[in-house]
Amino acid sequence: MVFDAKGRVIYHPNQSFLGSQISPVFVEKLTSEDGILSTEVDGEEMFVTYAYSSKSNWYVMSLIPANTFTAKTSLIRTVTFSLLLICFCFAGIAAVFITQNIVNPIRKITEQFRSFQEGTLDYRTRLESKWDDEVGELVIWFNAFVEGLAARQESEKRLSESEERYALAVRGANDGLWDWNLTTDKIYLSPRWKQILGYEEDDIGNEPAEWLERVHPDSQQEVKMKIDAHFQGRTPHFESEHRLCHKDNTYRWVLARGLALFDETGSAYRMAGSHTEITGRKEAENQLRHDAFYDSLTDLPNRALFLDRLGSAIFRNQRNPSAKFGILFLDLDHFKLINDSLGHNVGDVLLQEIGRRLGKSMRATDTVARLGGDEFGILLENIDDIRDATQTADRIQNLLSQPIDLLGTETITSASIGIMMNAPGYNTPDEYLRDADIAMYRAKARGKARYEIFDQTMRDYIMLRLELETDLRLAIEQQELTLHYQPIISLENQKIMGFESLLRWSHLEKGDISPTVFIPIAEETGLILPLGDWVLQNATKQLCFWQSQIPAASELQISVNLSGKQLVHPDLVEQIENAIQQNSLQPNCLNLEVTESDIINDTETAATVLKEIKQLGAGTQMDDFGTGYSSLSYLHQFPFDVIKIDRSFVMGMTQDKSKVSLIKTIILMAKELKKKVIAEGIETLEEMEILRELGCEYGQGFYISPAISAEDATTFLKKSLEHKAV
Ligand code: C2E
Ligand code: MG
Ligand code: MG
Repeated sequence: MVFDAKGRVIYHPNQSFLGSQISPVFVEKLTSEDGILSTEVDGEEMFVTYAYSSKSNWYVMSLIPANTFTAKTSLIRTVTFSLLLICFCFAGIAAVFITQNIVNPIRKITEQFRSFQEGTLDYRTRLESKWDDEVGELVIWFNAFVEGLAARQESEKRLSESEERYALAVRGANDGLWDWNLTTDKIYLSPRWKQILGYEEDDIGNEPAEWLERVHPDSQQEVKMKIDAHFQGRTPHFESEHRLCHKDNTYRWVLARGLALFDETGSAYRMAGSHTEITGRKEAENQLRHDAFYDSLTDLPNRALFLDRLGSAIFRNQRNPSAKFGILFLDLDHFKLINDSLGHNVGDVLLQEIGRRLGKSMRATDTVARLGGDEFGILLENIDDIRDATQTADRIQNLLSQPIDLLGTETITSASIGIMMNAPGYNTPDEYLRDADIAMYRAKARGKARYEIFDQTMRDYIMLRLELETDLRLAIEQQELTLHYQPIISLENQKIMGFESLLRWSHLEKGDISPTVFIPIAEETGLILPLGDWVLQNATKQLCFWQSQIPAASELQISVNLSGKQLVHPDLVEQIENAIQQNSLQPNCLNLEVTESDIINDTETAATVLKEIKQLGAGTQMDDFGTGYSSLSYLHQFPFDVIKIDRSFVMGMTQDKSKVSLIKTIILMAKELKKKVIAEGIETLEEMEILRELGCEYGQGFYISPAISAEDATTFLKKSLEHKAV
């Protein structure tokens, strides 16, 4: 519309408005310039634009209902707002998404790196990644990185632990440790290693020679060979026991063990191991070995070692018959007497001195051994013939006859020696020793202080002894033994004084066996006890018979031989008493004969028992006087009534005047001690005459009568009583 300044409508699209008046209030709002404003027309809001023409003073105005206009803009606004909202939403979501999936992980990674730098990183930390994108990859890499770190840290920890452990072990170990770099040929030797040999840390360098050149010369070769064997892969590890030179120049035993490392070509490039000091163990082992093979008293080889060396000698001889050998089995004479009378200490000193003398006098190739008790064995190797052995035996006797000082008491000694040469048919050391022992026994039996060379007859004798032992048991059970009686007469008036009862054994196959053969067997086996009692019973019974049957024989006496074994048996005195009582004998009609050698073993018991026998009223007689050891000294110690001069003095006395003077001395001495004398073994009238002249009261012997059976003895007795003389 167009209207003038007074508001009169000049133009309007609607004809009806032409000339109409616009409200002056409205017109006043208008400016003289162009403008826009809004107004309400008939209650409807309108947007108004206008232009003013100053020339005409008119206004040109257009009106648009606000709603036609705002309807579109509010749509646009709504749409724009919605779009903006959506955008914001998206941006928000995106922000959350980005924060969660990109920023956070990166921040966390950054944080972890920081703590890694600060050293506070927990290696167990692992980040999570949800997406398989770059960040995810970054997280994976990070995790892998931390894992790697963790593994490295773990292995470093283990390494340092193991190094610590190793260092601790090196310091704390009793073993010396070493580590040999074969490429540089330098060796690490631990402080303890050096200490074992008495050195300080700086005293010893790092050359392998520090070890190898200290090895005892005897073992150097062996140690090197063992090391090489291991380097060449021939042994699973290196191990060697050897001695190392200590700073003080003595040697220490060590056990060296080592293990080498090999490169791909199979060459050893390093070997490490330990040295354990085993001196103590070695010494103990050596001591044990020594104890097992050496006698503790004399320090000589013992029986086991002797047998071992003898075994080797037999072996050599079997391969080379010219390698002859001989053994000497030596048993000291009267050792038991010295031991019992002077005490075991003195006995020990004697054995030690003899061991020393024997050891010193032999060649280095010979073995002197103590076989046990007072027995020594000598093995002579590579000898020419038996003379080497017999000369050695003589030399030994000579050595033993040199005075020995036994804790103040000087004594000389002797030995019985059995000699045995190598011989075909012998295979074991025991066989040799057995026969050397037999020969020694023979030397003893033949008077001691001598040697005997073994021969087969000696073994036969031993075998016979063994057989007899069995037979004797049977003979006793089956009463094959009998008593014979040898008359004893008065040399003054020829009257019979009594009989000596003597055992007889008539063997079914072997014939008569002498009591000198079977009594020792009975003694060794203990059979002498029942046998001795049997003799006592029967001899007294026989005497009772004679005394009761023959009136003139009422004072007849009987002599019964007692063995040493019986003498120390606690039942003996009671047995004697029973025998006397059961046969209603006058006790003084029974005489008991004991030899000197029987009382020598246990002089105290013997003296006591003899006194008890005397208290019973029975007589005691020293048998075989003059054959034993230092007889005279024993005489006054024991309560003997009678001394029986051994037949060896009587035999041949007519030719040997010295025997006569000996007998004279014995008789004089016996008289001095108020003892009667019986001479044994009178075989001739001449002997009987001389003995009578010398003042010997009684005698027995083949000249008068041998031992005869009980029956013959009865006849003899009757005749002799009738004629009053033999
Ligand atoms: P002995 O007690 O010295 O006995 C004397 C031995 O000399 C007896 O030997 C006897 O036969 C023998 N004899 C007697 N007169 C002569 C003679 O003129 N010339 C020779 N050359 N010899 C004569 P026998 O009977 O062989 O007895 C030997 C030994 O056996 C006895 O020696 C005695 O020690 C022991 N003995 C014998 N019977 C027994 C016994 O019952 N018990 C014990 N323990 N030993 C006995
Ligand atoms: Mg006798
Ligand atoms: Mg006699």
